[in-house]
Amino acid sequence: MTVSRRDFLKLSGTAAAAAGLTVIDYDLEPAKAYAQTLRIKNAKETASICPYCAVGCGQIVHSIDGKVVNIEGDPDHPISLGTLCPKGSATYQLVVNERRLSKVKYKAPNSDKWEEKPLDWAMDRIANRSAMITNEEAYLLCKLNRALGVVYLEHQARV
Ligand code: SF4
Repeated sequence: MTVSRRDFLKLSGTAAAAAGLTVIDYDLEPAKAYAQTLRIKNAKETASICPYCAVGCGQIVHSIDGKVVNIEGDPDHPISLGTLCPKGSATYQLVVNERRLSKVKYKAPNSDKWEEKPLDWAMDRIANRSAMITNEEAYLLCKLNRALGVVYLEHQARV
């Protein structure tokens, strides 16, 4: 039996449609939802804030034995209502990532060489040395700079 190109295309189209119908008939959503509950079953829930931008969307961090197993939007958060943008949705990959840096390079004042320091040391140092002025002081500095003709001002908290 010879099959023409046209017959072959018709048969292929019919087979593809049948396969598509088979897939459509089978609803995977309940299975996916159940798999998700298994992943966070018995996990501790901690409310948190997305670390990426100033919108500050709410997140729930699931952890088991101190290890983060899932991060998702917090439906109880009054601003984001459980939603996260694509960047915020990928926060889990920020936390659990073998390429995440665990040490920093530090060059002390007047030193000519870099030293390797633990990440926790750097975090404490940044926390101790950032935002050292009050809002009122920032306001006065802003006014002073405006009086001196500075048009563009930047501040790490962007108040
Ligand atoms: S989820 Fe997106 S919009 Fe919300 S805080 Fe994170 S980065 Fe910003």
